[in-house]
Amino acid sequence: MMKLSEIFKKYSNEQKSKLAFKKWRDKQGVICKKCNGTDHYWKQDKWQYECKKCGFRTTLRSGTVMEASKMPYQSWMIAIALISATKKSFSALEMQRQLGHKRYEPIWLMMHKIRLCMGRRDDKYRLGGQIEIDEGFFESHRIKAKETAPTIKRQVTVLVMIESELAKTPHKNKCRPKRKAGHLKMQVMDKPNREGIHYEVKKHIEPSAKAITDGATYYTKLENILADHTAYPASGDPSMMHKLLPWVHIAISNAKKICLGVHHSIKRTYMQNYLNEFCYKFNRRYLKDKLFDRLMVACLTSSWHGA
Ligand SMILES: [Zn+2]
Repeated sequence: MMKLSEIFKKYSNEQKSKLAFKKWRDKQGVICKKCNGTDHYWKQDKWQYECKKCGFRTTLRSGTVMEASKMPYQSWMIAIALISATKKSFSALEMQRQLGHKRYEPIWLMMHKIRLCMGRRDDKYRLGGQIEIDEGFFESHRIKAKETAPTIKRQVTVLVMIESELAKTPHKNKCRPKRKAGHLKMQVMDKPNREGIHYEVKKHIEPSAKAITDGATYYTKLENILADHTAYPASGDPSMMHKLLPWVHIAISNAKKICLGVHHSIKRTYMQNYLNEFCYKFNRRYLKDKLFDRLMVACLTSSWHGA
């Protein structure tokens, strides 16, 4: 992973950061919003791309995460680099401090746009094989009617789905799970009932996959939409469930640690974005140095308000 000092050296001024971003954009390619053309001239005087087919102009930021943003390129590049340099996360307050920015809101917004791109990227992938499914209950804070009003804590139900294959050779450390984790998805549930769960499972999991769940009635009939479903009845012994569904429990507990420890009070509306970041990093946990490159591509190809 890039060291923090290297990040600040690399993007030490606006010009350097803008050029670095342009280099990424050129490499990734520009798609014309009018005709979908991919061949462009670069208009150096205007700092815009011009479609060779229809003449439509595309600004350097248009069609990327930076579209409609007034934040300097430098802030964006440093933010993307810092987010990919840590396994955990940065709070918006800490990011504001690192960037030496006067205002909190634009930093907060910038970080949420990056998290949206992470979610969009992971949504392209559907889980397959054996999959542990369970719900996690995350704490959220309601917006206060008055500053003096007490903070109301609410629970947000999150559906957690993770690829989990039985390991061919068990880990030397017997405390470690007997299963190997693959890709992870976490989805805030608007309707935590059977219909809601079936909807998310269809959206995020291949029909050929096999589900492993506890015996909750929410999960009955999953076998109708997946190739197979094993439901373990609750035994009254929670540690047993942790052994049968090890990775959902590990993922939930680690995500909660970050939500509570780094971001503190999260509002329900933004919970999915924080989970996007957690899953995105979990799913790329072996990439190390390459994480920044991948995140740049995700930010270049997915403008936060576009498709
Ligand atoms: Zn065009």
